Amino acid sequence: MNAEIIAVGSELLTPYRIDTNSLYLTEQLNQLGAEVIFKSVVGDNQRRLVAAAQHALHRSDIVIFSGGLGPTEDDLTREAVAEALGLGLKRDPDILKRLEERFAARGWKMASNNAKQADVLEGATVLPNANGTAPGQWLSGKFDGRERIVVLLPGPPHELKALFEAEVRQQLQAKVPPAFLATRVLKVAMLGESQVDARVAPIYKRYTDVDTTILAGAGEIQLHFKTCAPTQEAAQQRVDEVAGAVEDELDDAVFSGAGESLEQIVGYWLQMRNATLAVAESCTGGLLSERITSVSGSSRYFLGGAVVYSNELKTELAGVPAEMIERHGAVSREVAAALAEGIRYRCESTLGAGITGVAGPNGGTAEKPVGLVFHAVASDSGTEVIQRNFPGDRKRIRQLATTMALDMVRRKLM
Ligand code: ATP
Ligand code: MG
Repeated sequence: MNAEIIAVGSELLTPYRIDTNSLYLTEQLNQLGAEVIFKSVVGDNQRRLVAAAQHALHRSDIVIFSGGLGPTEDDLTREAVAEALGLGLKRDPDILKRLEERFAARGWKMASNNAKQADVLEGATVLPNANGTAPGQWLSGKFDGRERIVVLLPGPPHELKALFEAEVRQQLQAKVPPAFLATRVLKVAMLGESQVDARVAPIYKRYTDVDTTILAGAGEIQLHFKTCAPTQEAAQQRVDEVAGAVEDELDDAVFSGAGESLEQIVGYWLQMRNATLAVAESCTGGLLSERITSVSGSSRYFLGGAVVYSNELKTELAGVPAEMIERHGAVSREVAAALAEGIRYRCESTLGAGITGVAGPNGGTAEKPVGLVFHAVASDSGTEVIQRNFPGDRKRIRQLATTMALDMVRRKLM
């Protein structure tokens, strides 16, 4: 079955608010076995809303509206859907009474515009909203000769979610032919998107029944596989098959096959190896520590470390010789190695990690441009240093540097 989502609200067309409801609804619909084929954001404008509703009703089996059910002039979803379907609106005395009681319970008198929240589409079922004033509505039947389900939900995300869970999910489940959805996510560190795609496209293209999506972030590529099948086992088997083939191709560049973050995987390996980690960071200013400690239980393997932004602290806290900084500069292969070795020695950890670089946008030179970062990992088998010239702004460079360092630690432990 196909589904479509229409998010209503002029605020969603500004740079200040983003439509998150449709992401939640898409996830829910997918779980039920319905495919979302369109979603749109429409401002509070009756004519455009009617047009959007008509389009949606023409092409999608399930149409879910989010927002525009409030009491104000610009809340027009009920009116627009009524017009698009050629249905009347009836003021429901029970809802009206409950609205009045809700206001009375707070010692307020209900303003007259609130009454329109009691307007119900002809033939619709009212979906009580435990968290707000505007109830949702459910309508199913033949429109233009096609079987359709139309659902109206309030815009505030906590109201929409609670209402969907309490009133909509089960009803949809009864209507959507059972199709079992399975998903898999593979995560890859420090490879480019086109590089990954060139290697894996020939593989996933063979699985025409599996949807493959590649999401690229700073230093991390996610490969999402999704399919529907008549049984859960069959669906799972298909996504596992394609994920397995892709993993074989990308080999140890894949750091996670079950949704784990890089930080979690690093923690997993440190515990597996009974190892501890300490870090000395310069240009990342604590971001590496922040990421490592974002994992609950990280105290079992992360000892801590130092943010050594100044040359003096590189010497004082991480034991980097002052002459070395003088000779090679703070951003150098030698200093990165000394940071990793020094912090490992001082913290008595199994592994030490060091980062030094130019995060920009200022401070770059011809010899040491913005984006130049040295990453080092020290262990009892020696010290590895990797140099990278990262593209992007300060935030991206710092993110990439920490991902690189985490991935080096992971590879060292594997
Ligand atoms: P209300 O009674 O609050 O007016 P409503 O059903 O009319 O309910 P809206 O006015 O459209 O809902 O939205 C209320 C608030 O909910 C918005 O200010 C916005 O912050 C949030 N909201 C609305 N739609 C969405 C959406 N699609 N994604 C995320 N937040 C949303
Ligand atoms: Mg509103």
